[in-house]
Amino acid sequence: MVMDRKGILFVLSGPSGAGKGTVLKEVLQRVNGLAVSVSVTTRSPRPGEIDGVHYHFRTKDEFKQMVKNNEFLEHVSKFQNYYGTPKAHVEKLLNDGMDVILEIETKGAAKVRRANPDAVYIFITPSNYEELTRRLSCRGTESPEVCELRLKIAKTEYKSIKYYDYIAINDNLEECVNTVLSIIHAERNKRMRNQKLAENLIQLK
Ligand code: 5GP
Repeated sequence: MVMDRKGILFVLSGPSGAGKGTVLKEVLQRVNGLAVSVSVTTRSPRPGEIDGVHYHFRTKDEFKQMVKNNEFLEHVSKFQNYYGTPKAHVEKLLNDGMDVILEIETKGAAKVRRANPDAVYIFITPSNYEELTRRLSCRGTESPEVCELRLKIAKTEYKSIKYYDYIAINDNLEECVNTVLSIIHAERNKRMRNQKLAENLIQLK
């Protein structure tokens, strides 16, 4: 579905354990015209992660070269690894009228916000911190130290919530997916994003 407008950039953030990945997967299956940006990372793939699908897995040297070449819309260092959003791909999709969603952490989102005030910022979180703690300790893919670190970082990420347009509560997957889908539909139907149609209608004699 290619529209006669530029695509909308959606930015999805939230602490580790908020369920961003699962929500995003469901959302992508249920809406047309929305592409996800695959980030570049220097961290190792987790079991089941595929290069080019979940991330573009690169070495630190390769990543640094991409930074030098100005290939990122934003990039950050986190958990002793680098993460970045490839710029050219996202811009091409947006120019083709495709909506794009980035699943990135809050510092990267802040960088995107400075350059893209028209983007839509959505923060995903369980409704309380206890639930987040429970989910993180259940995850089992990381050491207790990494879990502790993620909880500490979660608290810092919550400080950025004030910069987001929407909060999508994820206590129940289905409800959260519906919240995000509603946001996408509402944003697509904003009058200011459908200016050509509005002007044509205004000019009717
Ligand atoms: P994970 O290693 O668990 O896949 O991701 C760790 C964190 O990095 C998550 O909060 C995720 O949203 C964030 N992240 C993934 N890709 C990017 C990216 O390209 N840029 C930024 N700023 N954060 C990212």
